Amino acid sequence: MDLSLSLVCGGCKAASLVCPQLQKQVAKRFRLEAAAGASSVSLVPWRRRMTAFAPHVFRYSSGFRQLCRQAQLHETKYERFFDNNRRRSSSSSSSRRRVVQSALADVDSIVVQEEEDLKTDKDVYPVVVPRGETWSVHKFGGTCVGSCERIQNVAKIILNDPSLRKAVVVSAMAKVTDMMYDLLERAKSRDDTYLSALEKLHEKHKDTATALLDDHDALSKFLATLEHDVHNLRAMLRAIYIAGHATEPFADFVVGHGELWSAQMLAATVSQMGLPCVWMDAREVLVVNLTGTQQVDPDFEASDERLDKWYARTPADTIIITGFIASTADNIPTTLKRDGSDFSAAIMASLFRAAQVTIWTDVDGVYSADPRKVSEAVVLSTLSYQEAWEMSYFGANVLHPRTTMPVMKYDIPITIRNVFNVESPGTRIGRSPVPETAGKSLQLSFYNNTADSMVKGFATIDNIALVNVEGTGMAGVPGTASDIFQTVKEVGANVVMISQASSEHSICFAVPEKEVGSVAKALKSRFKRALDAGRLSQVEVVHNCSILAAVGQQMASTPGVSASLFTALAKANINVRAIAQGCSEYNITVVVDQEDSVRALKAVHSRFYLSKTTMSVGVVGPGLIGSTLLEQFKDQAAILKEEFNIDLRVTGIMGTKSMLLCEAGLDLSKWRELLEGEGEPTDMVKFMVHVKDNHFIPNAVIIDCTASAHVAEQYYKWLKKGIHIITPNKKANSGPLDQYLCLRELQRQSYTHYFYEATVGAGLPIISTLRGLNETGDKIIKIEGIFSGTVSYIFNNFKGDKSFSQIVREAKMFGFTEPDPRDDLSGMDVARKVIILARESGLRLELADIPVQSLVPEPLRRESTVEEFLEELPDYDTEIEHLRQEAEAAGEVLRYVGVVDVLANAGRVELQRYPKSHAFAQLSGSDNIIAFATSRYSKQPLIVRGPGAGAEVTAGGVFSDILRLASYLGAPS
Ligand code: ADP
Ligand code: ASP
Ligand code: MG
Repeated sequence: MDLSLSLVCGGCKAASLVCPQLQKQVAKRFRLEAAAGASSVSLVPWRRRMTAFAPHVFRYSSGFRQLCRQAQLHETKYERFFDNNRRRSSSSSSSRRRVVQSALADVDSIVVQEEEDLKTDKDVYPVVVPRGETWSVHKFGGTCVGSCERIQNVAKIILNDPSLRKAVVVSAMAKVTDMMYDLLERAKSRDDTYLSALEKLHEKHKDTATALLDDHDALSKFLATLEHDVHNLRAMLRAIYIAGHATEPFADFVVGHGELWSAQMLAATVSQMGLPCVWMDAREVLVVNLTGTQQVDPDFEASDERLDKWYARTPADTIIITGFIASTADNIPTTLKRDGSDFSAAIMASLFRAAQVTIWTDVDGVYSADPRKVSEAVVLSTLSYQEAWEMSYFGANVLHPRTTMPVMKYDIPITIRNVFNVESPGTRIGRSPVPETAGKSLQLSFYNNTADSMVKGFATIDNIALVNVEGTGMAGVPGTASDIFQTVKEVGANVVMISQASSEHSICFAVPEKEVGSVAKALKSRFKRALDAGRLSQVEVVHNCSILAAVGQQMASTPGVSASLFTALAKANINVRAIAQGCSEYNITVVVDQEDSVRALKAVHSRFYLSKTTMSVGVVGPGLIGSTLLEQFKDQAAILKEEFNIDLRVTGIMGTKSMLLCEAGLDLSKWRELLEGEGEPTDMVKFMVHVKDNHFIPNAVIIDCTASAHVAEQYYKWLKKGIHIITPNKKANSGPLDQYLCLRELQRQSYTHYFYEATVGAGLPIISTLRGLNETGDKIIKIEGIFSGTVSYIFNNFKGDKSFSQIVREAKMFGFTEPDPRDDLSGMDVARKVIILARESGLRLELADIPVQSLVPEPLRRESTVEEFLEELPDYDTEIEHLRQEAEAAGEVLRYVGVVDVLANAGRVELQRYPKSHAFAQLSGSDNIIAFATSRYSKQPLIVRGPGAGAEVTAGGVFSDILRLASYLGAPS
């Protein structure tokens, strides 16, 4: 800032004559240099310039302003001082230095003198706090100062804050206030263990201070104070013990000691680290009025005055202030009630007119829901004052509900930050609301759903009871509501929420459970006549309820929000007992049974915060394909989430014997160990319920990586439940036709998806190509292909140099075959693929309708071991060699193919001959090849070719189905 600060003296002549170096030094003495980074310091005549300078003086330097005031009263003294300097000034540098030194000595003596004057003559030198934006306020919660190391960490944060002035409000060390209240309770109930409990507290603080403070004097000073306080507390608690009772001021006095001690320890630590600071007992400054309820109202005017007085006695740029405690106008100690230190900080910020308040706690900011209950909760980057109030009022205890009130007047922003994660920017609370898009950005951009963006957070209050006053006699009778609430007020109960049906037939409101007994009793007595006469039918109490609030600016007036909220609750099967929507449009509140409270919170939170393409994935069959798929998930999950907003969470893995379930999503880097160590016995129903219902992830999908018909039989049930299915298992689609048709029919009706690309040709796009052709109106004529990687390998290598049986052995050795090669050679696997493609093309065929030419010689189809089979196979080589030679002679090759002949409504699996120029003849390795002859592709078939077997490509095929599912669900493509 290019600001010229000026020292004030009696006359301009004197000013101009004092050398510049002296000006700088003088300025330093008065702490002007630091003030607002003044770029120059000059002397100005008092009367002429004072008015113009007043605002800067006011804002930037108490020392300077003090000097001005002193100058005003001691003009002559200053004049003398500067006149002397003028006389003394000469051009030689050594004499100049002497002049400066003697002038500085003069300045010092004036300062000393004037400080003395200041002490004795308050009215002559009234010192006012330099209120304004040079102050920044911090508040450190109990966990932040819970141990010696944590207090040191807090001190470092204070030292690192570059603000010119700092007011630091501090809570008691973690748990200390609870311990204090516990002391009181013990003393009140005449339990003399209060003495040992007090001693525990004493020790805790003694140990912490001893570990913190190296400076012997500072430590002894604190320990003496502590000793003194504990001594007094012992006496007070003894009195309470004898009386069996404690008045509120007594109790407040006792419980406030945690803050008194933590503030002193922190101040001593900060000083020890090199930043001069003082501590403030807020009871000397903060004046509050008791309201008769569990609240106090700050008296800002009186507190302002007291702050000035306090500051005049203890001017400092860094002040460590006790949170929580205050006093009444009559100086009776009191507190701002539980968790009140946030409120203390906000009041202090308004008294200092600070630039900002930072509330340091143990979480990264205000979350969209209590992070202890909803693991999905995200940190909100901004909140309006009103939103923050609503969130805290409805149970987000990260902030005391009244914190925003004092700062709103001066537009002082509050930032909630994590003392254990200073990198995180936290949540900024200010005047203007900003729709929350963090964590929802992608979702919002492609759904463009304004209703979603209006909702910021959710909170719950437990231990609530509902009171329902009902009766036809209430309608149209003015004053019933007022009578009801007057009665409630008289018993001192706090009404948390009100809901009245417009028929005026009933009024329903929520009060804390512990107050409902007296409320109900008072209402029954107040309305006895109406109840007796039947004008009121009942005063009903519903116990064990919770309030769930959704908070967000203008949310209530945005169409769709309530609908989404109630749909989410209904889907989670949660009964809503009462509803209220504030006219403020900042919240929608519902009352639910307390046992449903967390489920309700999770359900609504998921609805508004989870991406619509978040999937709960259950994997059945963690064998070769299943585990490869899990590996692929592990590698891709982060990219999918970041770039495509697809959030895959494997919530269950089920093997034949054991299964592993996890609500939030399994750690895929160690699922094997977990399955082994924490697995439970396999239970198909439990698995299904878990994947679908046990949490509130919007979509559920089961991936069947088995080859089991039993698992395939479950698909219908799963689809019916709304679970999407993806599988490389051929059993369902090649099983009985009626079951297949039912499955497809159900899938169409229910909008649940069933994908099985990997059942044919592994990862090759065969089903999707076929669908694409059908959906675009092409007519399939014939599908013909080599669908078995194993048999493909065998015939691609059957060229005359080796016998058929040799090649089979080789294929087995390379791991290209099933454990029993007969399973490949029998043609059944190809037949199943043929039936899948046939049905996909609209043919209604059973597996039995497909003639299959088996490559296993008839006599070897009997029960025998694999080795026996392989030993006997060479006996049949001649026959097939003969076929090969015949083909060869005609310039052709043998290929084992599956055919779907749509026009003939038939399918078959057979050994065929193809000219060497044919695409099928040019295959290598274990590739698959599929030719689609259609009306459009009638001259040249559409050919898909590539590796059609192996765990990697099959899992890849399954994975691509998942991405297809995600895009059906709304992920960006
Ligand atoms: P301090 O002692 O620092 O004042 P509190 O315990 O009063 O801390 O408040 C912080 C705690 O509030 C967090 O640890 C968190 O568990 C809880 N909390 C409840 N709801 C929320 C929410 N919506 N966002 C953040 N924290 C919340
Ligand atoms: N120490 C007080 C309490 O625990 C105040 C606070 O920490 O906010 O309630
Ligand atoms: Mg708190």
